[in-house]
Amino acid sequence: MKILNPATNKLIKEVGEDTKSSVTEKFEMAKAAHKSWAAQTMESRLFVITKFSELLAKNSEILANDLTSEMGKPLQESLNEINGAQKRITFFIENSKKWLSENHVHTDGNTKEVLSFDPLGVIANISAWNYPFLVGVNVFIPALIAGNAVLYKPSEFATLTGLNIAKLMHEAGVPTNIFVPLIGDSRIGEVLLDLPLDGYFFTGSFKTGKYIAEKVAHKLVPVGLELGGKDPLYVTDDVNDIKQVAGAVAEGCLYNNGQSCCAVERVYVNEKVYDEFMTYFLPEIKNFSTGAITRPTHLDFLDSQIQDAVSKGAKVLIGGKKIKSDGNYFEPTVLVDVNHNMKVMTEETFGPVIGVMKVKNDEEAIKLMNDCEYGLTASVYSKNIDRAKKIAGQVDAGTAYINCCDRVSPYLPWAGRKNSGLGTTLSYLGILAFTKPRAWHIRG
Ligand code: NAD
Repeated sequence: MKILNPATNKLIKEVGEDTKSSVTEKFEMAKAAHKSWAAQTMESRLFVITKFSELLAKNSEILANDLTSEMGKPLQESLNEINGAQKRITFFIENSKKWLSENHVHTDGNTKEVLSFDPLGVIANISAWNYPFLVGVNVFIPALIAGNAVLYKPSEFATLTGLNIAKLMHEAGVPTNIFVPLIGDSRIGEVLLDLPLDGYFFTGSFKTGKYIAEKVAHKLVPVGLELGGKDPLYVTDDVNDIKQVAGAVAEGCLYNNGQSCCAVERVYVNEKVYDEFMTYFLPEIKNFSTGAITRPTHLDFLDSQIQDAVSKGAKVLIGGKKIKSDGNYFEPTVLVDVNHNMKVMTEETFGPVIGVMKVKNDEEAIKLMNDCEYGLTASVYSKNIDRAKKIAGQVDAGTAYINCCDRVSPYLPWAGRKNSGLGTTLSYLGILAFTKPRAWHIRG
């Protein structure tokens, strides 16, 4: 497999790919090794995961360089991601024991009712490239802590990072048959779907996620899907500091070059503050420094969304085209006079292209925010928290942001609704997701 640098389209490295038979063999080895890993004490599993986190910190410069070179985000954003991944690991280390320990929940006469949690077994983690450390950690860390073996398929656009993660995991003491990287593209993912795994945990597009869920449905094993978003943000007419809001919204739109599932992709602004908002928002977008777009084919996709909007009456206020370069660069773009007949307002963009729409009132904003197949996050800006909560609470999204956007906390569930996903990562729900409960009725 050829690994290309999206900033130059030059070859970084060639790496060997897995094959159908190597994947099958690795699965058999994980299955054989799994019981001994599950039989270890949780303390010993937590010990190696702590070590892994320390190794991430120790090697952060090298890891960040590799991540930036293969997926194009600015180096500082790669460092931030690695730092964020360690914080999430700390959450799992500090909270897993509490949630996974055997729990005497009730006594009925002479019968003790006790709840315990078993690992699922050998699970697949088919992952995405945009935040490979963060979205990986959400799955494989709680899965390993709970006693599962993990067949980890990083995205073909984050292969070096996937290999780095595996190397450090093994150096930390996780057995090589318990955390197993599988290198390749969709064809290697497909092989996993045909094997008798005990769970499938996927991060990626709605199209692939739906396909995977349908393909493995007959196995009746847990399936977790973290999918795309078309995340809306509404600026009401009573924000405290509109300049500051405009800056925060621009960052929510353009961090990671808009290649985040929770990037703000559509902005609705109350007509009373629209002009003032745009005065501050446009320069923020213009001056934002973005990296390269990861997938070269995505440049044409962004172009086609803009063409679709313009052909239906949208106006390009800033940007609007590819940047002439050997690498995959696209101008940060703001479109106005947009409506929901345009793909840019309803289909995931996953790049630095934002539609901004003027709205009359809160009711119109709520209606438009809900007018989409995705339901990952929704954000409302207002100094009146009750009003903002009332608005955001009517939007069908797993995460509601009040006076903030584009953030993820390990303490809260990450659970997309509608086409944004199925199941939960993070929080105590994202710890329990990698287990199956056992109900004990103990007499005597
Ligand atoms: P993708 O669906 O193209 O690929 C994801 C993974 O699936 C890759 O590892 C790929 O090799 C594998 N794959 C592709 N086809 C497969 C098949 N037929 N069988 C098995 N595996 C297959 O997605 P992507 O481009 O890597 O990621 C971008 C998408 O991920 C965006 O839609 C984004 O919003 C979403 N995402 C969601 C979250 C979240 O937490 N909700 C986080 C990050 C990214």
